[in-house]
Amino acid sequence: MKFTVAIDGPAAAGKGTISKAIAAHFNLAHLDTGLLYRAVGRKSMDSDQSPQDIARALTPADLQRDDLRTAEVAQAASRLALIPEVRAALVDFQRDFANRKGGAILDGRDIGTVICPQADVKLYVTADAPTRAARRFAELSNKGHATDFDTVLADVIARDTRDASRSEAPMVAAADAVLIDTTEMTIEQAVEQAVKVVTARYPDA
Ligand code: C5P
Repeated sequence: MKFTVAIDGPAAAGKGTISKAIAAHFNLAHLDTGLLYRAVGRKSMDSDQSPQDIARALTPADLQRDDLRTAEVAQAASRLALIPEVRAALVDFQRDFANRKGGAILDGRDIGTVICPQADVKLYVTADAPTRAARRFAELSNKGHATDFDTVLADVIARDTRDASRSEAPMVAAADAVLIDTTEMTIEQAVEQAVKVVTARYPDA
């Protein structure tokens, strides 16, 4: 059965894990749209090209770099995500992905509001900032990145503030999104709840 799921929410709320689990459960293609912005951010760090030119010429190889998950790249991504021309350059790719035969799930900040306002199921996944920072801190520490909790918390808050207050496609829950607050949940509970929401809509999927 072909359907589209949109997942939005702030940094480190669990969108990625939930999206992958839903993709596997319902056999949907998954696009982490944050990777597009991170890839533009990473390339712009060592290029003289404008971010919009980089965004227009993004290649699959750019999305497969193994250095896109750093805090530095995340901040660069959220800064250039303010630029309307950068966002515009990435729209068609995301919409084509969303319209794939077989269905798709996309996670990001503006999926349910701008990229796929017609998505069949919309989720807005969130958690309080200290909880999200603690999860991101644990993830970065496990990968051997030298950092401390306060720095991660400040980064998360700075990024959320920028993402939520920009004029173009701000991070906001769509009016018809189901809210999942994962603050008091394990990741397994969050995944279970998200799967339940999709199953309620598509019991035979
Ligand atoms: O999801 P992730 O943390 O990888 O996203 C990195 C940054 O990319 C976000 O902080 C946000 O500024 C930007 N982004 C966006 N719209 C999306 C996905 C990500 O503006 N759909």
